[in-house]
Amino acid sequence: MLEQAQTPSATTRTLHGTPVVPGLAYGRVVRPAPAPTLPPATEVAEPDRDAEVERFTDAAGLVADRLAARAAGASGVSAEVLQATAVLARDRGLTASVVKAVRRGTDAPHATTAAVDQFAGLFRQMGGLMAERVTDLYDLRDRIVAELTGQREPGIPTPTEASVLLADDLAPADTAGLDPALVTGLATRLGGPTSHTAIIARQLGIPCVVAVAGLDTIGDVERALVDGTTGELLLDPDPTTSTAAVESSRERAAAVAGWRGPGRTADGHVVQVLANVQDGAGARVAAATAAEGVGLFRTELCFLSADKEPTVEEQASIYAEVLEAFAGRKVVVRTLDAGSDKPLAFAGMPDEANPALGVRGLRIALDDPGILDRQLDAIALAAERTGQTPWVMAPMVATVAEAQFFAERARARGLVPGVMVEVPSAALLADRLLQHVDFLSIGTNDLTQYTMAADRLSAELAALTDPWQPALLALVAQTAAAGLAAGKPVGVCGEAAADPLLGCVLAGLGITSLSAAAAALPAVGAGLAHVELAACRAAATAALDAADPAAARTAARAALG
Ligand code: PEP
Ligand code: MG
Repeated sequence: MLEQAQTPSATTRTLHGTPVVPGLAYGRVVRPAPAPTLPPATEVAEPDRDAEVERFTDAAGLVADRLAARAAGASGVSAEVLQATAVLARDRGLTASVVKAVRRGTDAPHATTAAVDQFAGLFRQMGGLMAERVTDLYDLRDRIVAELTGQREPGIPTPTEASVLLADDLAPADTAGLDPALVTGLATRLGGPTSHTAIIARQLGIPCVVAVAGLDTIGDVERALVDGTTGELLLDPDPTTSTAAVESSRERAAAVAGWRGPGRTADGHVVQVLANVQDGAGARVAAATAAEGVGLFRTELCFLSADKEPTVEEQASIYAEVLEAFAGRKVVVRTLDAGSDKPLAFAGMPDEANPALGVRGLRIALDDPGILDRQLDAIALAAERTGQTPWVMAPMVATVAEAQFFAERARARGLVPGVMVEVPSAALLADRLLQHVDFLSIGTNDLTQYTMAADRLSAELAALTDPWQPALLALVAQTAAAGLAAGKPVGVCGEAAADPLLGCVLAGLGITSLSAAAAALPAVGAGLAHVELAACRAAATAALDAADPAAARTAARAALG
């Protein structure tokens, strides 16, 4: 199909990136609007200053309302990010600083810019979480200045027809507000397969390609075709064949969407198909799909904007929402994975030069288990209230002693303990970890990053962080073998589990459950339902023997027929 779409027009160009959400999308190209330009400063005459103050408060209020409205339509971390920026727009200190400057005669756009610069400096000095909010401040400044000067609102425009969004990268606030009915495809120059853009695109089910080389130099393009399966981006392809290609991919997608579970190969080998969730709202959406349970509840995402530790009661009611959504089904709750790309203000993390290799995940609890103990208390309370027996797992476990430390605390509260395998040492010691815990769950996002020594967020290194890397598959194979020998489940809950072809390979390696964003599950389940276990095993052997990810994909595809 894509070849046909490519041939007829001499002007068609093809770029290549990393495919992250399968599917085809064709439409008019939209791009984020650039930041507004600041007009030359004008002195506001004394009698006009009250009106200028009002102009500012109206503009800031409008921007806050728009962000809050988008927050109301989003959920989880997306909603929190939008809401936090909306709150910033009404911040009293910021407003006071702008008003003061206007009363001295500065016009509102320049007063806004100066106040934001001053606050950005303060935020930077504070460091940590506050420093990370500087981007939000500048985003806010641009929105207010655009409003004041009659320029286009920066960020992503709301398209009026099915469109393909091409961007350098997307801020969480941008991605959060995407409407999948209008933005039907997405391609970015930056971001890796596990970047937040990819995770949110997957949640929204928008075909997506990241790390597209050359996307910054394409010039004027009217329409584009995104292929989230192959990673191709066709610029100004033939409209008729493109539309036909999208139509037939929709038909295939409809067949996949008809998959209702449970997870089984064609010959009945059981592989549970589970959902990754981040809050009660997400869990309720997932519960309405064919998800058999929750394989990863990322609890830290509930508290990204909390400046103090939520109480046991507050936590218990959030956890109970997820347990209730999946009443009578398996729910795996991950304890707080704070640190690195997910700093939590209340976790008291030190400033580190290299936070991905620093005090994150379970490591935070080793010296001071208070936060972990209170979280396990809250999970146990939620379990008692809902009559569920959740499984709990610790992130970033590297040693047997850590697994033992966690297992004792979980068992003391009647919870089923497991650990995540995200560090190569945990995969290599899987047999010994399983002497202390009841299950393992492989976080392929971090396991790939630490195996390949490649930042999972780096677009430049996206080829290294490909989950088809045979080195990663070897560690998965060793972990799965330890599970089979111990008679204990070993799941995969990283983004690798969202790839239908790789799902078959993982089943062949002995993985017992696959957990991914709910939107990705039908394709994963339908993929398994088409093949027999023997073919999965053959595909696994072929992929393990391959020299690189491309060869592993080709060999697996051939083995699965
Ligand atoms: C992983 O590392 O694969 C994982 C599931 O954890 P997270 O993506 O939240 O770091
Ligand atoms: Mg991880």
